[in-house]
Amino acid sequence: MQDAYQRAITYLRVSVTDRCDLRCRYCMAEDMTFRPRDELLSLEELDRLCSAFVGRGVRKLRITGGEPLVRRNIIHLFRRLSRHLEAGSLDELTLTTNGSQLAHHARDLMDCGVRRVNVSLDTLDPAEFADLTRFGDLKKVLYGIDTARKAGLKIKINAVAQRGLTERSADRMVEWCGDQGFDLTFIETMPMGDIGGTRQDSYLPLSALRTQLDRRWTLTPSDHATGGPSRYMDVAETGQRIGFITPLSDHFCESCNRVRLTCTGTLYMCLGQDDAADLRGPLRDHPSEDGPLLQAIDDAIARKPKGHEFLIDDTHGDPALTRHMSVTGG
Ligand code: SAM
Ligand code: SF4
Repeated sequence: MQDAYQRAITYLRVSVTDRCDLRCRYCMAEDMTFRPRDELLSLEELDRLCSAFVGRGVRKLRITGGEPLVRRNIIHLFRRLSRHLEAGSLDELTLTTNGSQLAHHARDLMDCGVRRVNVSLDTLDPAEFADLTRFGDLKKVLYGIDTARKAGLKIKINAVAQRGLTERSADRMVEWCGDQGFDLTFIETMPMGDIGGTRQDSYLPLSALRTQLDRRWTLTPSDHATGGPSRYMDVAETGQRIGFITPLSDHFCESCNRVRLTCTGTLYMCLGQDDAADLRGPLRDHPSEDGPLLQAIDDAIARKPKGHEFLIDDTHGDPALTRHMSVTGG
């Protein structure tokens, strides 16, 4: 699949639920309302949709959410999708998780061909973690990470940069990830969805974080690339890498290779734009014929916009997009 700007679309992110067992302050409001369950695609429908994308040339699938591991029987979906790995039509099946349920699922994920997991973790301080996630238990997440590593999964830690927190936690995170052998990626906060407050106070440009890290660590540009938007630096003292994802201060749209599917079957061609295509209609209206679904996918890809329009500053309202990251899948 190629879009109108000659970008090959080879990466699909799929949100399998908008629900979550945490309420991270930058992601959700405390009293989030979730989509009615009957609007959600069934695991069979998700499999059919993902498989249609694989048939169209997608080589990498990332399962996300909400928290993907709170979706009941989610391993069934991983198991179904693993047939594309075995057939050689998919290079990677992976997920992004908050880690809280990882201990229960690590071995099954490994058995389904998952080899790498992104775990979101913003601080190693139990009290700060509990406050940031509103009721998360850091011990559970660390146990999940440890179990996953022992099961053989390679782990990357993602941390959302937040003013007032990350300045304190960053060095410890770099040190800990170095000790554990994990790469670490810092992500700028994106203005998505009502969080019951403003993001302007917590927005921390990664350029500022970089300046801070440079004082303690020897960072040199790395030629490592994952096909994602992260720019990597090697950390001489730990032998690990740090990635920086800067959608606001320095965007990467010209090399974008991805589209995102929500748990209700809406395809977003850009995380930062509202244009979307309904795939649930053609999926449910034609249960035994893929033609209309494939046509809807092709039409959507042809409309993929050139770039996003995120902006957090004093003149622009917050949020820039009304939908939450947990709907589109981060
Ligand atoms: N629940 C899983 C998790 O936390 O990893 C998967 C879904 S979560 C929406 C995916 C990623 O998006 C996480 O790394 C999270 O920190 C990030 N995220 C959520 N809201 C964000 C925002 N407004 N800006 C930037 N990143 C955000
Ligand atoms: Fe849940 Fe992930 Fe959002 Fe945190 S970032 S509330 S863990 S979906």
